[in-house]
Amino acid sequence: MERVYLDYAATTPTDPEVVQAMVPYFTEVFGNPSSIHHCGQEAKEAIEEARAKVARLIGAQDEEIIFTSGGTEADNLALTGVAVARESKGNHIITTSIEHHAVMETCHFLEKRGFQITYLPVDEYGLIGPEDVRKAINNRTILISIMHANNEVGTVEPISPIGEIAREAGVYFHSDAVQTVGHIPVDVNKLGVDLLSVSAHKLYGPKGVGALYIRKGTKPASLMHGGEQERQLRAGTHNVPGIVGLGKAAEIAQQEINEEAARLTGLRDRLINGILERIDHVRLNGHPSSRLPNNVNISVDFVEGESLCLTLDLEGICTSTGSACSSSNLEPSHVLMALGLPPEQARSSLRCTLGKWTAESDIEHVLGVLPRVVARLRAMSPLLRKPLAGEESNGHGLEKNKS
Ligand code: PLP
Repeated sequence: MERVYLDYAATTPTDPEVVQAMVPYFTEVFGNPSSIHHCGQEAKEAIEEARAKVARLIGAQDEEIIFTSGGTEADNLALTGVAVARESKGNHIITTSIEHHAVMETCHFLEKRGFQITYLPVDEYGLIGPEDVRKAINNRTILISIMHANNEVGTVEPISPIGEIAREAGVYFHSDAVQTVGHIPVDVNKLGVDLLSVSAHKLYGPKGVGALYIRKGTKPASLMHGGEQERQLRAGTHNVPGIVGLGKAAEIAQQEINEEAARLTGLRDRLINGILERIDHVRLNGHPSSRLPNNVNISVDFVEGESLCLTLDLEGICTSTGSACSSSNLEPSHVLMALGLPPEQARSSLRCTLGKWTAESDIEHVLGVLPRVVARLRAMSPLLRKPLAGEESNGHGLEKNKS
């Protein structure tokens, strides 16, 4: 069966050019970059090249990039690292109610250890108000952590004005940019962040590698203890092929970013408008314009998101409901709940995320299949019943079950 993959926010396929760049670092250039001999130094050189490429993509200096095992580790290092390092200055951290679990669960961990966390609410589109951030700062605040774009609904947050507020208050500012780096322009100076998380597998690089940007002068504590790698901030022998892969992915992204963002925005809008035209009782979740170029998130009334996702899978279409990371959890998505959706609408969400290998024909295919799948599921839905004789139809030929 021909498959249409629309789950690029969960992970992207590794670009074949990236794979090609990585291959020699498994067998030919296999030295430990900490070794002083030729084999080690060759590997070290490759790491430094990759560091420069990642730095260039986000407007950073090379030495401000620390390689990690991915976005989750970068988020953990940013939050726990700053919390531990600045404990004597204060114990208050500001974040949002729509962060990825990598930030959310780290906050819960810190909360249990005596830190006070403010989880700022968002508006109906998932936007944070910069003034709410300003108001939440107190003299114990040591860190603000606000994601650049939300992984579920695609809303892009007003990071620059928050960066200014953080700088004025002298508070460290971290942003989880796992969904934006490589997809929309990211410049750490324009954003005004001190720390920023990156994950390779979201930008056509390999899984299990990422980076944390740490502005010069910002000093989180290390969470890993052992060797002196990565300026003593991340002990452990480097994942050389992975880091080379991240570097190559960053280099390719830099070349393609503007054109690809424009192409995907066109496909995204075609999919959104096509769905809204063809299926009634559907709502777009997330911001209509301050939105990732590749994100479509809808709630389809009277249908469970899980059923929709699984039925589409049987049709060869890979999507997700809520966040892929929480797809084993039937609790409604914390992000959709934070946007104010009632639980039944939060449970009826479908996320389609597009990417480099999404073609116009894929979008047309989905627009052909989705109305049929939704109609079939609605016909079986316990959330609906057939209209009784003399009762007005709601347009599906079905009535919402009021019981
Ligand atoms: N942050 C965000 C916004 C994400 O979307 C993800 C992955 O889904 C992560 C962090 C975790 O990144 P990784 O899978 O590299 O650990």
